[in-house]
Amino acid sequence: MKKVALVFALAVIAPSLVLAWLALRSLRDQEYAADRRQTLLYQNLADSKAAAVEQHVTSAQRAFAYSVENMCKTCQSRQLAEGFDARLRDAWPLAEVGFAVSLNGGILAPSLPGSAEARKFRVENDRFLCSTESCEVYWNSPKGPISLAALDAKEAMIRSETSSKSPKGERTVLPVKEAADMSSSKLSVGETNFRELVGSDTDGMFARFLQDKLHVMFWHRASDDPLILFGAQVSIPRLAEELRDYVSVAEDLNREVCLALLDHTGKPVALSHSGFNPSRQRLDARVSANGRTDWKHPFVAAEIGEALPHWEVAVYLLDPTQVVRSASAFKITLGLLIALLLLAIAVGSWLLVADLNRQLRLARQKTDFVSNVSHELKTPLTSIRMFTEMLAEERVNDPAKRRQFLGIITAETARLTRLINNVLDFARIERGEKNYQFAAFDVAALVSETVESYRPHLEALGFTLRTEIPPEPLTCQGDRDAIAQVLVNLLSNAEKYSGDGKEVVVVLDASSGGFEIRVLDRGLGVLSGCEEKIFDQFYRAHDSLSCGIQGSGLGLTLARQIARAHGGEVAYQAREGGGSCFILKLPHRSQRNRGGSDLLEKR
Ligand code: ADP
Repeated sequence: MKKVALVFALAVIAPSLVLAWLALRSLRDQEYAADRRQTLLYQNLADSKAAAVEQHVTSAQRAFAYSVENMCKTCQSRQLAEGFDARLRDAWPLAEVGFAVSLNGGILAPSLPGSAEARKFRVENDRFLCSTESCEVYWNSPKGPISLAALDAKEAMIRSETSSKSPKGERTVLPVKEAADMSSSKLSVGETNFRELVGSDTDGMFARFLQDKLHVMFWHRASDDPLILFGAQVSIPRLAEELRDYVSVAEDLNREVCLALLDHTGKPVALSHSGFNPSRQRLDARVSANGRTDWKHPFVAAEIGEALPHWEVAVYLLDPTQVVRSASAFKITLGLLIALLLLAIAVGSWLLVADLNRQLRLARQKTDFVSNVSHELKTPLTSIRMFTEMLAEERVNDPAKRRQFLGIITAETARLTRLINNVLDFARIERGEKNYQFAAFDVAALVSETVESYRPHLEALGFTLRTEIPPEPLTCQGDRDAIAQVLVNLLSNAEKYSGDGKEVVVVLDASSGGFEIRVLDRGLGVLSGCEEKIFDQFYRAHDSLSCGIQGSGLGLTLARQIARAHGGEVAYQAREGGGSCFILKLPHRSQRNRGGSDLLEKR
């Protein structure tokens, strides 16, 4: 049994525990993968929107160049340069200031006595555009960004004080779902002067920060005079207005995320969901120290690039708890499945072990049964042989003694017959071949006949046998012989398990429900806990080894099978004052049950 349990533990329990552990691990991986998938999906969205915004700025630069070319067609570049600021603002709506620079060193437009805007522009940009000063610029040149190493570090330090206060190297926003190294910006920033910046190119753009304000400039080289460059300082509010369309979200994601275009200070310039407040959406409700909404911690974000440095397209979750909720729902479902699986394995294992135990017990009982039956056959055979030999050799002359020996031989033969009948009937019932001869009979007569035939044997052994049987005939429907066999089995048990209490009482009661035949003794009684087990096949509560009482463990099994085949029952009750009381219940009219069907069901 221990070996079976070990094999079972190794073959079933251990693998199922390993499986459960693997399932739990895969649950964690699944969670991570789902999270990763979602992050990637939103990151792709942010990246594509950022690329579209950058593309828009590039298209605007192309539109500017096209406007300049159109203007150049009407007059000479030098002529155009004089009133370029006003003409450009008329012709191209994004222009805040239009400027013209001669690479020989002079600013041709806007003229200094012009508008306040123009004057401010000249103050801020003259030295850079005349290439007398290097500045830190974000420059998306086709030849690649300018290398800082090329510049004199000392000179760069002095100039940085006067130029921008733009955030350098670091990103304005810190997305929740990005690795730590993503906190640094991928923008290329370098110090250069205007002449170096334009080189021999025809078109270009650059951006610079002045007093923490972003300035985006487009420039285009005049086709008739390569030394003249026309440029525009782009109006950021108007450009932002044009970029509004890019923060729209497709239908399927509209209920999940809000898109925002953030400027270099981390404030939204455009929003896909007006009125959206990321601080309210956040689980930890992060609000900046001055009580203003914190836009700097989106779910994911993507930088636009050098065209709009430190501007980002940010993705915020409309309902961050949904991620947690769906993750925990997934976890609970899988957890329940695993628990159910383990429970099923545990219950299955328990059933298997219980069945195995039952089989083992049955196998043991069968072995005991064989030795019990052999013993039960041997004992009466020995005494029959001994007494017949004595009688045959005429060694007994006393007629009383001879009668006594003949009585013993008859009783032993009856015992043998009973045993063999029991075994044969049991085998028949097991095979479903037992046939009952149902007919009406007088149960009162049957009980008194059976008891009386047993009386001499019991009285010879010193028993007192009392009966309480109604004198009038009581008609019952059933197999007379089978019922007699049950009664004989019960009487035989009362005799076998009598101990010192040599009293047997047989009572027959007729009620409206049927008949009750009770066989009472003052014997050993049935141990508590065994009241039902004694009806199991081969089961013996008092076995030959411990009590020296012979038996096959079939008598009560058979009695119950026969009773049930008649629609009745055999039950045990402890007798008041000690001993046993076995009750055979029979209905008035027995229904014809197939013999052994109950046994088969029970097994
Ligand atoms: P057997 O008597 O051949 O062992 P049975 O099926 O007739 O088989 O009985 C099963 C068990 O029930 C017996 O081994 C015995 O322990 C218990 N038993 C039966 N009848 C009595 C009784 N009258 N008093 C006490 N125990 C009994």
